[in-house]
Amino acid sequence: MADYTGRCLCGQVSWRATAEPANVRVCHCRLCQRATGAPFFARAIFLAEDIAHEGETTRWPSSDRLDRLSCARCGTPMFAAPKDPPARLGVALATLDDPAALRPEMHIWFSARLPWVSLHDGLPQHPERAP
Ligand SMILES: [Zn+2]
Ligand SMILES: [Zn+2]
Repeated sequence: MADYTGRCLCGQVSWRATAEPANVRVCHCRLCQRATGAPFFARAIFLAEDIAHEGETTRWPSSDRLDRLSCARCGTPMFAAPKDPPARLGVALATLDDPAALRPEMHIWFSARLPWVSLHDGLPQHPERAP
């Protein structure tokens, strides 16, 4: 059975997923850039029923489609919760305990990438959402 675990920088927030993710993507949109304070947001989306998390988080609606959750103590951006059903939870790949456990399948919103970002990983680069 799949078993993925991760935690924030301070360890107050942790998560465990017990099934394979629905998708693993790198998002270059401006919202993800600002929400993570990073050039892009690499995340795995799990069905909500397949993932559990512990610890106190803050929650911010970065758009009418998505809430962002961060550790309430250290501020690590941990989760993205889409509001559309089915219930899903995006998890920052950088919080994985085993950094190599999941690999992205594609880049999305690549048209909004920061101008100095140059990637040669061979993955598809979609200008906007996934086709
Ligand atoms: Zn923390
Ligand atoms: Zn995004």
